[in-house]
Amino acid sequence: MSARVLVVDDIPANVKLLEARLSAEYFDVVTACNGAQALEAASRAECDIILLDVMMPDMDGFEVCRRLKSNPATHFIPVVMVTALDSPADRVRGLEAGADDFLTKPVSDVVLIARVRSLTRLKMMTDELRMRALTSMEMGVQAPERAAVADTGAGGRILLVDDRPSSYERLAPVLATEHAVDVEPNPAEALFHAAEGNYDLLIISLGLENFDGLRLCGQARSLERTRQVPILAIAETDNNARLLRGLEIGVNDYLSRPVDKNELLARARTQIRRRRYTDHLRDNVQHSIEAAITDALTGLHNRRYMETHLGTLGEQASSRGKSLALMMLDIDFFKAVNDTYGHEAGDEVLREFAVRIRKSIRGIDLACRYGGEEFVIVMPETDMQVAGMVAERLRRAIAAEPFVIDKGARQIQVTISVGLAALERRGEPMTDILKRADLALYRAKHDGRNRVVAAAA
Ligand code: GH3
Ligand code: MG
Ligand code: MG
Repeated sequence: MSARVLVVDDIPANVKLLEARLSAEYFDVVTACNGAQALEAASRAECDIILLDVMMPDMDGFEVCRRLKSNPATHFIPVVMVTALDSPADRVRGLEAGADDFLTKPVSDVVLIARVRSLTRLKMMTDELRMRALTSMEMGVQAPERAAVADTGAGGRILLVDDRPSSYERLAPVLATEHAVDVEPNPAEALFHAAEGNYDLLIISLGLENFDGLRLCGQARSLERTRQVPILAIAETDNNARLLRGLEIGVNDYLSRPVDKNELLARARTQIRRRRYTDHLRDNVQHSIEAAITDALTGLHNRRYMETHLGTLGEQASSRGKSLALMMLDIDFFKAVNDTYGHEAGDEVLREFAVRIRKSIRGIDLACRYGGEEFVIVMPETDMQVAGMVAERLRRAIAAEPFVIDKGARQIQVTISVGLAALERRGEPMTDILKRADLALYRAKHDGRNRVVAAAA
């Protein structure tokens, strides 16, 4: 999929020039000739990245950027300021407004394409996360955009990899005014240090003695524990080829020496803010994945998860020639519990039942809520005889101890019926075993409840 770039400039010739270069690289280009139009296009979610001119009449680029970044609906779109101004003070102003990067006019082709590529790649990754996180947001988790807009980017944990005392003795105190900073002067230790330290940002000098800083960046990108940590590289001078190489291997941003203190602080904040935002999104995704496979009332797995996973467990048992047993449990006369004590009391019983199930099974057993007051427990490497003992123990654990309801005010007697079945031959479909367990359960009910019945082989 080709990314869509919004080019904003009040001078038509500038728009045409950028449009031509980007189109030649198969980017999809849309244009705007003032700030108001740009905000409008961005809010319709029509672009993946914005190239924004700074000097425009009415509303200048800084203001447009500030508005984009403070609106949760457009916050996540990367903004590159295209500017003739190139003093550190101007760059800091842009970064303060929330810009993700800068291009200096006249814009070099290679740098233009490299920056647009790396920022749109990042955007597509966050889009994917945002999409998956939507479910959990609908469930009431706070929208990460709102938190991101409020985040100042201060208070991060930074690892500075720099082997020159004259350099890190100047940079570390600057960073320490806003963050917790560790300095690692030994590049050979840096990767280990980074992986252990749970950092929000790695700042890596590319001018290390006897060590290729870019190699270190590449290693940090391929190592699982540092893969998601942003990297800010410090280049010796404006060495374009090395910087481009860095961006290709995943360096997120760079500064050139001599390092301007304010620009260093502003770029660090931007990276840390973005890192927290993506972390937040990732947590949400994790959360929604868990929600999708978990039964909300009991915390056990839900039926959908069990049905997917059961196939895998069956194949494993078959291919290794191991046994596998399954029990289906149903609470006796549960409708009467609801009718007599209310639905909330019924829910309390279900929760407590799940607790007792968890106590009586092993870690490798899979317990799930199959439906209303019906549960299934799958027991790998367990034969019918052992399964019978487990089921009987569980049945007794339920019947022997009354269930407490109404916040401790009442106690009620609960019993269960259990149907048991086991894998009978290699490759047998799991649906067959479920069916036999269900039939056995039916017999247990029919024979008087509060009992375990094993399916006939
Ligand atoms: P049997 O011994 O034959 O299983 O009788 P039973 O009353 O347990 O069976 P039946 O299937 O007739 O009723 C099941 C009841 O479980 C009906 C339904 O209202 C209740 N139920 C299902 N899900 C929930 C739930 O999440 N919470 C509560 N409180 N009740 C539930
Ligand atoms: Mg029942
Ligand atoms: Mg039932």
